[in-house]
Amino acid sequence: MIIYKFGGTSVGNAERMKKVATLITNDDASKVVVLSAVSGTTNTLVEIGELLQKRKPETAVKLIESLRNDYNQLISELYDSPEAHKKGTEILDKYFGQMLSLANIPDFNLGNNKTMLAFGEILSTNLFQVFMESNGHESQLISALDFMTIDEEGEPEIEEIGKKLKPQLNKRLTITQGFICRNPQGQTDNLKRGGSDYSASIIGAAIQAEEIQIWTDIDGMHNNDPRIVKKTAPIAALTFDEAAELAYFGAKILHPASILPAQKYKIPVRLKSTINPDAEGTLIGSKTSSRDVKAIAAKDGITAVKIKSSRMLLAYGFLKNIFEVFGQFKTSIDMVTTSEVAVSLTIDDDTHLESIRTELNKFGNVEVDINQTIICIVGDLISEKSGILKRIFDAVSDIPVRMVSYGGSRNNISLLIDSKLKADVLNALNDGLFES
Ligand code: ASP
Ligand code: MG
Repeated sequence: MIIYKFGGTSVGNAERMKKVATLITNDDASKVVVLSAVSGTTNTLVEIGELLQKRKPETAVKLIESLRNDYNQLISELYDSPEAHKKGTEILDKYFGQMLSLANIPDFNLGNNKTMLAFGEILSTNLFQVFMESNGHESQLISALDFMTIDEEGEPEIEEIGKKLKPQLNKRLTITQGFICRNPQGQTDNLKRGGSDYSASIIGAAIQAEEIQIWTDIDGMHNNDPRIVKKTAPIAALTFDEAAELAYFGAKILHPASILPAQKYKIPVRLKSTINPDAEGTLIGSKTSSRDVKAIAAKDGITAVKIKSSRMLLAYGFLKNIFEVFGQFKTSIDMVTTSEVAVSLTIDDDTHLESIRTELNKFGNVEVDINQTIICIVGDLISEKSGILKRIFDAVSDIPVRMVSYGGSRNNISLLIDSKLKADVLNALNDGLFES
């Protein structure tokens, strides 16, 4: 069994849905096909939910009606036969009917909102399955709400999911929804925005699939940011640890949480391109292909905080006190460097920065630098490779570096720079690490 996951853009219009049907019927392998909502739909549902929570049902209903018009258009382009078109219309009548009923609930609450958000994936999968059927491709649609469950902590119940799902996989093609799930109270819930990748990984782990394929319009994970650096290339192979670092630090192609289930159950993840389906893409697995730098990524919007205090000298518990302040304001720290009298660290969520600064002032002199970028250099065991720092520092020798983090993970070396220098640094590192 192979898991095929297609995101919102890949099912974004009739043409693209047809392409997906071709891709999954190209060979005889058994597949579970996980679909996102049509691109833009979840955003619209979020908007509708916000209006209803603000008690503006009239505006919400207008949005629902305009969304319905978009879907009328979609099905008229998707289906050739009147029978298929009729089935598509019935699906739209049913689910848009349910959305309108929800919109009429006077005390529309968070639970109702989650039900509302689920319609995107419910619509895309139902409409797609009718397309498959009307083109003579046998397939079954299984609702993710019947097997995808999370526990009180919001963690997927992988063993349970496998037990429920495995006996149902008796067709060559099974279609299901990404993103949506049920919580312990049995209510409709979701795996957070962008969660369809996570769904695919959970399903792959739960049924011990051969491979999880994430299909997008990019030909794999690139070794640098293609928007900034000219000569980037897709990375052939990455370890799970490397992929996790990259998914977090900027490479938008894969949802960071989706690495975990696949890694735990050792299911390879392949990133594939709908535009160039014959390309190998990027394979993420347990084995490493080479012990060198594989990729460079950047994360913007970083704030650096420095706390300087002579009280830190020879004292213990100083760092604990500092970290506690960030913990208290639920703000996670990415990079940390220390000297004997100062500590610098970075955060990417500055919502509570002013409160944090007030608290930190009790421990020493606080300096804050905004508009910083973390440049992250990723590769298997690169921190154990001699000469690596020289290559990096030679490449950025003209650039002022604010912080360096080395040795924290064996797969990652991070530099903190002013965001204005990002393009220069990415290009300089590309020349220094890949071109030589
Ligand atoms: N449709 C959901 C979203 O837009 C889940 C996903 O696409 O991965 O966030
Ligand atoms: Mg997505």
